[in-house]
Amino acid sequence: MPRPGTVRTMLPLADAHGRVATDLRVSLTDRCNLRCTYCMPPEGLDWMPSDDLLTHDELVRLVRIGVERLGISSVRLTGGEPLLRPDLVQIVAAIADLRPRPTIALTTNGIGLAGRVDGLRSAGLDRINISLDTLDPDRFRTLTRRRRHADVLDGIRAAKAAGLAPVKINAVLMRGINDDEAPALVDWAGREGVELRFIEQMPLDAQHGWRRDRMVTAAEVLAALAGRRLRPVAAEGRSRGSAPSELFRVGDTDQVVGIIASVSRPFCGACDRVRLTADGQIRNCLFSRTEDDLRTLLRSGAGDEEIAEQWARAVAVKLPGHGINDPSFLQPDRPMSAIGG
Ligand code: SAM
Ligand code: SF4
Repeated sequence: MPRPGTVRTMLPLADAHGRVATDLRVSLTDRCNLRCTYCMPPEGLDWMPSDDLLTHDELVRLVRIGVERLGISSVRLTGGEPLLRPDLVQIVAAIADLRPRPTIALTTNGIGLAGRVDGLRSAGLDRINISLDTLDPDRFRTLTRRRRHADVLDGIRAAKAAGLAPVKINAVLMRGINDDEAPALVDWAGREGVELRFIEQMPLDAQHGWRRDRMVTAAEVLAALAGRRLRPVAAEGRSRGSAPSELFRVGDTDQVVGIIASVSRPFCGACDRVRLTADGQIRNCLFSRTEDDLRTLLRSGAGDEEIAEQWARAVAVKLPGHGINDPSFLQPDRPMSAIGG
């Protein structure tokens, strides 16, 4: 906390392309209890050594520096699977104590959420995204290599009952596996009162198996939903801002569906995100091929100001776009599960 009477200047996380990062994505662990085929191989990965992981205090300190000194106004906790982190409730509570208080969101696969969501809500959780790619338990098993479909549905119900609204559902469609499910997922989301978002599959899987011609594009999803009479919410005068999701109203209902066309219609020009990995590295982009090591700096006894300055330098050099559509694109070494999605 600043000493009484001292005025600390805010150092915005600006880059050379006119963007300012205010949305911090924090990966709490690279581990997971599912093995989604678009994310990691069946055997899992070489998990990060525990000594490399930020401790509770280190993690909260970095988030505090982001909020107090760098203008971070929203924090999303993700992974890997963030519910695997035993101190998750304490992390949420500590972030909720920061001033100015950031909004706090969680991205989770929903397994185990049912028993924990009330505690998370009381600790200060404001928003939630739960991943669900299929309504069919057998397909879920094919996609995630685990029989946990019912647990995810329980988690979604519990999030609604805890008053988190809207509960957002992230769905990735995979060709030949669940790409026929777009209309059924939209109808289900309408009945459940949750906000569904389709995400294009990105080249971030640990196996480096992504292929452009296998990806189900946003255009294909929209074509599959022709019968649901989607109309762009932008036509109603609501601005998309920095949100990656293009929103569509379903017919004349209150239901809204999002499409995140990260690959076919990149939104890098409006990006306001910066990422902190579970082992204390700052990444200025999901697809960045470099990172800045705040953990070593922090463990060498650096003060808040020095850490903030290094963080700001890391964001200043953010590239204008992710480059997936350039012939020279190279997938980053870190997979999605170790970056934080
Ligand atoms: N385990 C949590 C979950 O699944 O929600 C949080 C981490 S996960 C990496 C975050 C989101 O990224 C999930 O919605 C997941 O479906 C999505 N995701 C993972 N790999 C992806 C990929 N290659 N392309 C697009 N989305 C991906
Ligand atoms: Fe786990 Fe999320 Fe990756 Fe699926 S997408 S394997 S739930 S980290």
